[in-house]
Amino acid sequence: MVDILAIDGPSGSGKSTVAKRLASELGFNYLDTGATYRAFAYLAFYAADDLDDIEELLDLLDGFDLEYSDGKVYVNRKDVSEKIRSENISQVASKIAQIKELRSYLVRWQQEWVEFNGSSVVEGRDTTTVVFPNARLKIFLTADDKVRSLRRSLEINKDVDSVQKNILERDSRDSNRAESPLMVATNAVVLDSTNKQIDEIVEEILKLWKSSNP
Ligand code: C5P
Repeated sequence: MVDILAIDGPSGSGKSTVAKRLASELGFNYLDTGATYRAFAYLAFYAADDLDDIEELLDLLDGFDLEYSDGKVYVNRKDVSEKIRSENISQVASKIAQIKELRSYLVRWQQEWVEFNGSSVVEGRDTTTVVFPNARLKIFLTADDKVRSLRRSLEINKDVDSVQKNILERDSRDSNRAESPLMVATNAVVLDSTNKQIDEIVEEILKLWKSSNP
């Protein structure tokens, strides 16, 4: 049986760190769905003439070979794991993530990845609402936006004000888009990481996991 623990929430809420820790505690695979949007954004950033031309972007899917293995991301066999983390690519990813056809393509890719690899902790903005609405446990992890910006600025070594501006812009685009907006799924457990250490959140989720029904 394939078991799924899905974690949703805004940027900087601690999703990735928490999801990776949980995957290692449970002996599960870890899938960062944001990396799949970033991977396509990377291709689009270098290959598209016009990032607003949806037809042109969708045509790029024909030459898009995406691999995700051991937490590394490959686009057309090239390891782009580091490059997709830049602020430029973050912005392009949240922009292209509004395209319905691209979302369907990546959602199918994510579902097939889990089907192929087995039980997984899956993390990202619509994993509890659209990708795996029937996951065994669904968590919505959130935190105050100042704390989220500070965490991200330490992670990428950039000043907190520009990071906060970027995070608020992405939050607003992700929450207000027509396709799969960021929202709390039915039956999801909402956890606030503002005043909590990662260890506490991980422990809390492990307890919830043990008491959830397979
Ligand atoms: O989570 P991360 O910041 O890496 O995601 C980059 C962007 O990809 C997000 O701002 C969001 O617009 C998009 N995304 C999404 N659905 C997901 C994961 C990410 O729309 N499941």
